[in-house]
Amino acid sequence: MARIVMKFGGTSMAGIERIRNVAARVKREVAAGHQVAVVVSAMAGETDRLVNFCREASPLYDPAEYDVVVASGEQVTSGLLAIALQAAGVPARSWLGWQLPIRSSSAHAAARIDAIDTAALVAAMESGEVAVIPGFQGMTEAGRVATLGRGGSDTSAVAVAAAVKADRCDIYTDVDGVYTTDPRIVPRARKLSRVTYEEMLELASVGAKVLQTRSVGLAMKEGVRIQVLSSFDDPNNSATADTLPGTMIVGDAEVMGEIGDDMERQLITGIAHDKNEAKITLTQVPDKPGAVARIFGPLAAININVDMIIQNIAHNSGSTDVTFTVPQAELARALDVLEKAKADIGYDAQVHDTKVAKISVVGVGMRSHAGVASTMFAALADRGINIQAISTSEIKVSVLIEEDYTELAVRVLHTAYGLDAEEGVE
Ligand code: ASP
Ligand code: MG
Repeated sequence: MARIVMKFGGTSMAGIERIRNVAARVKREVAAGHQVAVVVSAMAGETDRLVNFCREASPLYDPAEYDVVVASGEQVTSGLLAIALQAAGVPARSWLGWQLPIRSSSAHAAARIDAIDTAALVAAMESGEVAVIPGFQGMTEAGRVATLGRGGSDTSAVAVAAAVKADRCDIYTDVDGVYTTDPRIVPRARKLSRVTYEEMLELASVGAKVLQTRSVGLAMKEGVRIQVLSSFDDPNNSATADTLPGTMIVGDAEVMGEIGDDMERQLITGIAHDKNEAKITLTQVPDKPGAVARIFGPLAAININVDMIIQNIAHNSGSTDVTFTVPQAELARALDVLEKAKADIGYDAQVHDTKVAKISVVGVGMRSHAGVASTMFAALADRGINIQAISTSEIKVSVLIEEDYTELAVRVLHTAYGLDAEEGVE
């Protein structure tokens, strides 16, 4: 007997037929004797629809009310799955975020989970009842509904898995694992059987859409084993999840321990792209202590994450341009808050560009090898692709380029790092 958290994404929940398939899968794990909690997303497209209503109602909407609106998508699917499970003869009930409760911070639209009360949940699971939990939502200390940021159901699933000390968190999604890059761009991309938390964290943070970044960080911190699985295999297949070929996300030690100095493990594990960034440049920012703090302080105060930052050297003018990227969805709010802080920061003008993409190469192998960045720059230069900004971490190099070159850049780099699968080999 194992305790398993199963998480189903929006594509798996899109419509009653699919929800019935999900119920059949859950039933399989229950029949194998496992205790199961299921975390669900809203139906595919539903959250976008709800977000658009908010924007239409007012572009500068109150995030607390936005949360009330967008959290509803998961309430619908959790109830529907509980009904489908009951119809399939599996005892089940839904537990909404405020009922458990899932206690979260009050940063509406970007809340963090602080704690989950598990007593009722564990009692239900132990009694053989499946607990169905809407992802993406929590409750603030003031008792208001909060949401965890787009894609937050993955984080809900990992948090539930950590709280109930689950043996595994199986994430069912519309891809059957984690690939070296997006197979729609590079048909010869390969599925990885194992990825480390750190690699997955970097891949997720730079646009590999498989998992929400925060969920991976949380899994790493809490030591939750995550398995990424396809939600599309044959519903009549009777195999339980521990025998399916997905991608396991595990600690460094497990990867190193099992494959040792395996030459097969490439220096670069994966290449990701992200078209959801926007570039902002503030011109003629005074070059003096505190200037940068006055730019990024107001952005942080409204929970906008800044990613790449470039500040040029002021030559003789006493001022310098500062360029950085923010999520495209936050651009309007970012420009608004920067406009309000214009006098305080003392810049001349705002310039922004949404036709940019971030391309990242990721791999723990980078720690012990030089030359990864130069291979990247040379391969891009070779194709005449201009680099607008660069950022690096211990296991990642990212560049910002013109959006139109995204696919070309990914293909060129996949080949440059030797990641293309042999013809005919998986
Ligand atoms: N429904 C939410 C979203 O689309 C949360 C999730 O599915 O993970 O962002
Ligand atoms: Mg998702």
